[in-house]
Amino acid sequence: MSFLKTEQTPLLIAGPCSAESRTQIFSIAESLAHSNVSLLRAGVWKPRSRPGSFEGYGEEALGWLAESKKYFGLPFAVEVAEAKHVALALEYGADAVWIGARTTVNPFHVQQLADVIKGTPIPVFVKNPVTPDVDLWMGAIERFERVGVDHVFAVHRGFTSYQSGSKYRNPPNWVVPIELKRRRPDIKIICDPSHISGNRVLVAEVSQKAMDMGFDGLMIEVHPNPDSAWSDAAQQITPDSFGALLKGLVIRNARTIDLSASDELEYLRALTDGVDTEIIELLARRMELSEKMGRLKKRCNMPVYNPERWAEIVESRSQQAQTQNLSPDFILNLYEKIHHESVRRQLDILESKDNLPKD
Ligand code: PEP
Ligand code: MN
Repeated sequence: MSFLKTEQTPLLIAGPCSAESRTQIFSIAESLAHSNVSLLRAGVWKPRSRPGSFEGYGEEALGWLAESKKYFGLPFAVEVAEAKHVALALEYGADAVWIGARTTVNPFHVQQLADVIKGTPIPVFVKNPVTPDVDLWMGAIERFERVGVDHVFAVHRGFTSYQSGSKYRNPPNWVVPIELKRRRPDIKIICDPSHISGNRVLVAEVSQKAMDMGFDGLMIEVHPNPDSAWSDAAQQITPDSFGALLKGLVIRNARTIDLSASDELEYLRALTDGVDTEIIELLARRMELSEKMGRLKKRCNMPVYNPERWAEIVESRSQQAQTQNLSPDFILNLYEKIHHESVRRQLDILESKDNLPKD
């Protein structure tokens, strides 16, 4: 049966980073066959950052996956990066393919893959590009949609970062998948906590966070013996840990059948809408005051920006924030934006050639 018909929520994809042997694939398929996992994942062509690392067993590994599917009935998915990978994946009966983060960055490659997938019924999972670029991610998804692929999923696996000191291998930058979901609420987003974490101790908490954010599924690297894995050893978890992770996972639903809770939520949302209207009206009033100050500064030939005044705003607003139980960092970020807009409007006034309105 197609994994698409299971309607399992969240959609669970699990399996090793790489297919390493027939024994390994059979062992993991046996462990996952009676779980809620809909798809077994295993890389057979591995995009390695440096040459000389293990690059996958290719067609031979597809044979192990096809055989294990026959034996345990678990559908499987592999990563494809070249036209010949697609042809082989289809020949061996893969149930889905995924596009890796290093491939999504390249529209030429993505288009070539879309052109060979065209006309086949295979679902495609598109990982985010390594850069936090929502347009590039959307563009890759659209290339598959345009050739008529019916089932295109997005996979969030985090983004390369130069910032040292992050606890993540690929920091999640949650605003990027949230923006994708805002633009395309119809596309299912699967979270890959393994590649985000890079470290097995973080996989459960990132999985829970994805559920809390309303993601539609998880793709998790599971290996019978993670420490001896040939790729991504540090982030893979055992089938037992995977079972424990699923057991502890709080699954959230966008809708609730609890009618009194949904009434209360509707009421709270209506109140929030009202407060947001007030916030926008207040911001408009604040900008009117800024413009009045701009006209005054123009008349008196004063500069727009006054560092002492800005320092005073930062200080006093942070203190007020604390008395209201708001984080000073949050208020500082917000005021930077407000101040920036206020300065921009005042500069427009100073630079305009119009006659000064009298106020
Ligand atoms: C993988 O899924 O093993 C993989 C190589 O992922 P990514 O493209 O996200 O780095
Ligand atoms: Mn991996």
